[in-house]
Amino acid sequence: MHLEPLDPYRWQIPKTGQMRVPGIIYSSEAGINALLRDGSLQQVANVATLPGIVTAAMAMPDIHLGYGFPIGGVAAFDWDTGVISPGGVGYDINCGVRLATTALTEDEVRPHLEPLANRLFQAVPSGVGSTGSVRLSVRDLKQVLTQGSAWAVARGFGQDSDIEYTEENGCLAQADPGVLSDRALERGRNQLGTLGSGNHFLEIGVVEEIFDAHTARVFGLVPGQVTVMLHSGSRGLGYQVCDDHLAAMKKSVAKLGLTLPDRQLACAMIQSEEGQAYLSAMACAANYAWANRQIMLHTARQTFMETLSISPNSLRMNLLYDVCHNIAKKETHQVDGKNQTVCVVRKGATRAFGPGHPDIPDRFRAVGQPILTPGDMGRASYVLCGTDTAMDQTFGSTCHGAGRLLSRKAAKKAGKGRSIQQELAKKGIVVKYTGRFTMTEEMPEAYKDVSEVVGVVHGAGISRMVARLRPMAVVKG
Ligand code: 5GP
Ligand code: MN
Ligand code: MN
Repeated sequence: MHLEPLDPYRWQIPKTGQMRVPGIIYSSEAGINALLRDGSLQQVANVATLPGIVTAAMAMPDIHLGYGFPIGGVAAFDWDTGVISPGGVGYDINCGVRLATTALTEDEVRPHLEPLANRLFQAVPSGVGSTGSVRLSVRDLKQVLTQGSAWAVARGFGQDSDIEYTEENGCLAQADPGVLSDRALERGRNQLGTLGSGNHFLEIGVVEEIFDAHTARVFGLVPGQVTVMLHSGSRGLGYQVCDDHLAAMKKSVAKLGLTLPDRQLACAMIQSEEGQAYLSAMACAANYAWANRQIMLHTARQTFMETLSISPNSLRMNLLYDVCHNIAKKETHQVDGKNQTVCVVRKGATRAFGPGHPDIPDRFRAVGQPILTPGDMGRASYVLCGTDTAMDQTFGSTCHGAGRLLSRKAAKKAGKGRSIQQELAKKGIVVKYTGRFTMTEEMPEAYKDVSEVVGVVHGAGISRMVARLRPMAVVKG
């Protein structure tokens, strides 16, 4: 793979062969050398061959190999002439992260950390096939799928402000449950309010350092403050939607007469019946994921109040923001000085809208949207802020985390004979987990160093560092 440096943080894959646009990778020099051994840069070049792609196929510094499209990938397709590919969004539709701030300090929470982690672990079902306490009739499930967060809040799982501080207010309007398979609906009926497998988590953290005092004040972040971060998605329902539509689109590829560099890029024109059916189904799964995270936030609030014997007002667990990192969105962006309607695909990438954007809550309008960047269970996570540069360069997008460094298999090997739980305990971090291999597969070294990844997006200007969080207790799937 031939790469040309553009500046200290950007590398170009020049347009060759079937590519319609170049590829652009955000990375440090050290990062790019490691990536050359991985197949993910080829995936960026493959995405660049798809019809209707605008400007460039992009990758963030947390890039790693994914299904068809790389994780850490961003691409925009013209709304009228472009394609949509289920692999571009991925299997966990609207996997995402929400962060809540609290009125508590580390000193107040530390003495209760062990019982708090235990109770959270009991209250939030976790693990691959876990089911929750909310059982839904198909009729109720269809309401979840069309209403998203608002469904959960209307049933007492949360407060009105939670909806305001969720990307898209926790609901995509295109949702149409009529396009879902019976199998997808069945899988959704008993998994609402559940975390999912190993990489998903509920984490108690503390604000360790502030980099931008003004923005931190706007976001309500102060040093020593306890936070709650939640990472989960659309569970079996979202997986089934992706699987169903990949199968359908393998046929539409043949109909279009497209020759794809990789079968995993199966796609359809956005404006075709198959393309619209996928987007309607994807919106259902996205809404399910928002209701899912909303219910778990409510459970976390209840668990904190019960365990610490405190009132809602002493806890003040308020949602800072909820961001998706596996999604396709209809958005308008400036391309070559003109407004263009595009479908922005962010897979393992987060929206990073800058100051003044009408789609971000009033409270953040002057500074840009909050961006939540989890790192790993042993080191750190970050809160960033969206920028004008992201609007100019990346269709308002940035990284979604540290990104995987070791495959699950390699991580298991590196963890042999070690107790990751004890290693974390020595650092004062309590971990509760469900999966048999979760601790080794998910150990901190399995991920890139989030501080380096964030250093790239900050250096490139597509996000601004606001605060760093340190983990105190983690519930893992
Ligand atoms: P993904 O959605 O790609 O599975 O995960 C998003 C990101 O979450 C990963 O790239 C990783 O950096 C981060 N992450 C995974 N597990 C944990 C955890 O237990 N705690 C924190 N803070 N971050 C994590
Ligand atoms: Mn995720
Ligand atoms: Mn996920």
